[in-house]
Amino acid sequence: MSPDRIVVMGTGGTIAGRGAPGAELGYVAGQIGVEDLVAAIPELRDVRVVTEQVAQIDSKDMAFGVWQSLAARCAHWLGQADVAGIVVTHGTDTLEETAWFLQRVLAPGKPVAITCAMRPATALVPDGPQNLLDAFTVARQAGARGVMAVCAGVVHGAAEVRKVHTYRLDAFGSGDAGPLAYVEAGRVRQLRGWPQGLSGAGLLDRVLCAREWPWVEIVTNHAGAGSRTVDALVAGGVQGLVAAGTGNGSLNVPMEQALLRAMEKGVRVLRSTRCLDGKVIAQAGDRLPAHPLTPVKARVDLLLELLA
Ligand code: ASP
Repeated sequence: MSPDRIVVMGTGGTIAGRGAPGAELGYVAGQIGVEDLVAAIPELRDVRVVTEQVAQIDSKDMAFGVWQSLAARCAHWLGQADVAGIVVTHGTDTLEETAWFLQRVLAPGKPVAITCAMRPATALVPDGPQNLLDAFTVARQAGARGVMAVCAGVVHGAAEVRKVHTYRLDAFGSGDAGPLAYVEAGRVRQLRGWPQGLSGAGLLDRVLCAREWPWVEIVTNHAGAGSRTVDALVAGGVQGLVAAGTGNGSLNVPMEQALLRAMEKGVRVLRSTRCLDGKVIAQAGDRLPAHPLTPVKARVDLLLELLA
């Protein structure tokens, strides 16, 4: 018998938000239980579902402990032969970081579809129920694998997904790469390959054993940026720094020098870009290592590297 059980893990977010009836803003995220979110969708009545409330937070407050629990529970359920896939309900604000974290740590051979909403469940026309239903469609898709974000009928890969809009229902983009797939009237139209690979040997165990995550900050290059922020962080004991450079990861001279000094003192440094599209292209003579993903995802990679 082919696997048919779907596990839904709730972490909170606007999709579980409650506010004044009909209001789009001024709500509180993470108020409605994941079981109730699923029960509200008649189309899911005949699906074999397990729900687990892993957290109930606004994702701007995402914490390492929640990531640990999520990774542990996902790993458990992914190992069950009758589970076809996992759906995670999540706030939109840090969804892209959780997606990349889970892809890096689990590299799942089954689909993990993270979904969300831009309007609370109590809005006049909430977008959460359709997004949740679409995430189920992706999680049940034969042959699908890897961690994906599902929002407004668009499926984004963990490496590429980023929140690009403060208000629009279609709030995510995949940059130059474009989406992985669309969900249209309950069917998946796949455009390119599912996310694959990356979990290093023992990485999940190291994440689960860690008491706290390493201290890694993002520093942004901008007109007038200097050395003071980096110097202060190094003096405070920071372990890793991601520089969100301008353009092709460029940094003003005092900031670059401060980062080089930080590296000499043993702080791990990566150089990403604050540009919305494109990636930092490494050049001969670069003194600070370039990273191809966005600053927040480079930060996830640095966290995992420092846990090693
Ligand atoms: N602040 C909310 C969160 O990330 C926003 C959302 O879910 O859209 O949980």
